[in-house]
Amino acid sequence: MRQLIAGNWKMNGLTAGAEALVREVRAGADGLACDLLVCPPFTQIAPVAAILAGSGVALGGQDCHAAEGGAHTGDISAPMLADLGCAHVILGHSERRQNHGETDAAVQAKAWAAARAGLTPIVCVGETEAEREAGRETAVVGGQLAGSLPEDFAGCIAYEPVWAIGTGKTPTEQDVAAMHGFIRRALVERFGQAGTGIRILYGGSVKPDNAARLLRVPEVGGALVGGASLKAADFLAIARAAG
Ligand code: PEP
Repeated sequence: MRQLIAGNWKMNGLTAGAEALVREVRAGADGLACDLLVCPPFTQIAPVAAILAGSGVALGGQDCHAAEGGAHTGDISAPMLADLGCAHVILGHSERRQNHGETDAAVQAKAWAAARAGLTPIVCVGETEAEREAGRETAVVGGQLAGSLPEDFAGCIAYEPVWAIGTGKTPTEQDVAAMHGFIRRALVERFGQAGTGIRILYGGSVKPDNAARLLRVPEVGGALVGGASLKAADFLAIARAAG
């Protein structure tokens, strides 16, 4: 399976900058050996979609509501994302779990909603530094997987150790291999054969200078990239390290 390199732009990008960034990404995307995805903030999805039209670069949202519509001021539904041309949606990012109190049950409901709208959910899991230091990383990630994934889940997982996000710190290849192996076993145990085909992305301070070694780790099906996805040259350099 081709690896997926996904850019999470977070709350960054006014129109001119977002358009310039995605134009550069599109221009450099031909001939890559991986799949490429950009997830702009909601306000930039339409202008970015216009520039990506007809390209192989996919578009995604950074969150969605569990309901299809209704009285949910300030929220965006999965059908709204699909309507703009999104194929994916990031769910349960640690910043949403921490800043918005999103529980595993809430993430699970959103993953259902995404699938109903025809979107591929990218469900994020990962332990904090304190949890890793206490030796609880697999217990935490196992619990998040059990609680956040709906039945018949057919999306991607992003393993993002919270302590590696935006910090420049990364786990060792051995630690990434151990966690991705653990996640794979949990997916197969729960979903059987279908669990073997679920892409497990690594996320947390992926940069051009560490991408090749992280992307070579067994069971790493790609990367979820935050900061480095805001520079087209860096994002494309990471994509060229993927296969
Ligand atoms: C992220 O927030 O999903 C992420 C991986 O960020 P960064 O690459 O900046 O660590």
